[in-house]
Amino acid sequence: METFQDIHLPEALQHTLAHMQFAKPTPIQSQAIPLALNGKDILGSAQTGTGKTGAYGIPLVSQLMENPDAQAMVITPTRELAAQVIEQLRAMLGKKSKIRSALLIGGEAMPKQLNQLRSQPRLVVGTPGRINDHLKRKTLKLNALSYLVLDETDRMLDMGFSEQIDEIMKHMDEKPQTLMFSATLPKSILRIAQNYLHEPEHVQVAATSSPAENITQEFLHLRDDEKYRLYRVDHYNVDTQHGQLHIFEGSLTN
Ligand code: AMP
Repeated sequence: METFQDIHLPEALQHTLAHMQFAKPTPIQSQAIPLALNGKDILGSAQTGTGKTGAYGIPLVSQLMENPDAQAMVITPTRELAAQVIEQLRAMLGKKSKIRSALLIGGEAMPKQLNQLRSQPRLVVGTPGRINDHLKRKTLKLNALSYLVLDETDRMLDMGFSEQIDEIMKHMDEKPQTLMFSATLPKSILRIAQNYLHEPEHVQVAATSSPAENITQEFLHLRDDEKYRLYRVDHYNVDTQHGQLHIFEGSLTN
């Protein structure tokens, strides 16, 4: 898949993607989108900055637009990530969309979230603790969920959300199409994948330890006395046109 026109996406989504200046899919998007549109579960290994939100978000929005019964949820480890994700997904839905969404994050007053939930949202993005709060209060129901994303799953486990995730999963009548993204794939992640993914397709961009693809790193050997001059001048010399970031490092000269 070279362009977004190569695949079948709703016209409204093609428009919003163009408006967001998503001209060409990133590598993780090229791999994941066709599989997800075909209904596959996915275990994706990709870092932030690779376009992973679009990789799961474009098929998610496509499903919401094409199927009036579809309901989707994205679980993230932090409030900040949840807010970024819902912003990107709402942009993909477009300003005029009638599809409602709810942001369910901790530390935020309940009335706003209850209002959003009363509007019958077909898209929910949130953090595990608050999602569970709403499930317990029965202000959120997941029995008809059709598309589920676990984003930054390794971070969720690091933050001790494993039981919360298990708890959330109990509220679904039928297993939804599930996509799991994680920067790393330790055994604990594979265990969750085994429990909740059905014959998942694996997608990956670069080794998990390598830097994001569009950043060039350079290492310069300098004398100690040159270091601070260059450091001051070129501390972070960002070449926005070519996506290059030069960080000048001093070396220890004996
Ligand atoms: P993410 O890795 O999902 O956090 O995305 C990183 C950034 O890349 C976000 O600002 C996205 O809006 C942007 N982005 C994602 N996919 C594309 C694309 N296909 N074309 C242009 N920008 C993109």
